[in-house]
Amino acid sequence: MKILKIDHLGIAVKSIDDGKNFWTDVLGLPFEGSETVQEQKVTTAFFPVGESEVELLESTAPDGPIAKFLEKKGEGIQHVAFRVENIEEALAELKEKGIRLIDEKPRIGAGGGKIAFLHPKSTNGVLVELCER
Ligand code: ZN
Repeated sequence: MKILKIDHLGIAVKSIDDGKNFWTDVLGLPFEGSETVQEQKVTTAFFPVGESEVELLESTAPDGPIAKFLEKKGEGIQHVAFRVENIEEALAELKEKGIRLIDEKPRIGAGGGKIAFLHPKSTNGVLVELCER
């Protein structure tokens, strides 16, 4: 498995409209627009930072994963995403090493890339996303 870089940090917010001002107006990051991934009940917005990005996540439904996260923990870092060279290969290797996978097979995430999540029980409590684009 080859990890290329930290692709992005996923941050759960109540509202992208209200939350994005810190990232744009205060930090001066560019706002690259938002996208809704209906299947995951989430709207995402990306803010490039050098080689990586900040991803803000807003729930589109009260029973979505981001809504549940906000209920439990409030706003904050929800996941860390690593970009890998070959996501299928990485998932097979991790499974072989006994890591619990949330996604056995990659699905399509925001921006059309392939993504898969690892279970926090296997990763020191951090929700880890793998992505390939
Ligand atoms: Zn993500």
